[in-house]
Amino acid sequence: MTPTQIRQAIQAYGPIQLRAVMFDMDGVLYDSMKNHARSWHETMLHFGFQHFPVEEAYMHEGRTGAGTINIVSRRERHRDATPEEIAEIYAYKAEHFNQCPPAQPMPGAYELLLKVKASGITPMIVTGSGQKTLLGRLNKHFPDIFRPELMVTAFDVKLGKPNPEPYLMGMQKYASYQSGQSDGSPANFIVVENAPLGVQAAVAAGVFTIAVNTGPLPDEALLSQGANLLFPSMQSLCDHWPLLLDCLNSQ
Ligand code: CA
Repeated sequence: MTPTQIRQAIQAYGPIQLRAVMFDMDGVLYDSMKNHARSWHETMLHFGFQHFPVEEAYMHEGRTGAGTINIVSRRERHRDATPEEIAEIYAYKAEHFNQCPPAQPMPGAYELLLKVKASGITPMIVTGSGQKTLLGRLNKHFPDIFRPELMVTAFDVKLGKPNPEPYLMGMQKYASYQSGQSDGSPANFIVVENAPLGVQAAVAAGVFTIAVNTGPLPDEALLSQGANLLFPSMQSLCDHWPLLLDCLNSQ
């Protein structure tokens, strides 16, 4: 990614007065998507669904569990799953996921979070995950970075990605807790996302969206959803952070 490409992307979006960066969690801060994808694949087979390849999980990434289950149920059984089915399937998936080896922080993630914080910008988390184990580990792996009142999780949202709701909620939370810093305008934020539906949600919320392609999908799957910039890894985004800040400061 060259300075010219970064400047052009910012120019095309419009002025940004950056106050906070909203990070997605799975596949961005944690290398956890392999575990999720494998757990979904094995869960769907266990409950008698015929076709749910591991790769499909990456296309649904960011959806609520119920949303993913209903898509597969409609496709194969031509009906929504019942609330009981959803609860049973999701519980099985969560149990399977919890038996996977613990996901490690994504290389470059903590270094980037420290750089963001050092530049006076607030790091936030906006995730569809309700994995208590993963949320609880945030403070261990990323000490002194996140404030609980500035987090959006599965427990906050009703609709989930690709609806813009989680990111709109993140901007509202920031505006409530940092009144004077932001009126909640999208121009005060940047989103970092790894999934097509996450990019779609962030773009629909009107926020400048950086895609990091940490999974098996082609870049086009993220760019076609409207990502403003794309980096091949969190380490690459981390390495480019000073340049990105320079470009933002010289708009
Ligand atoms: Ca993700």
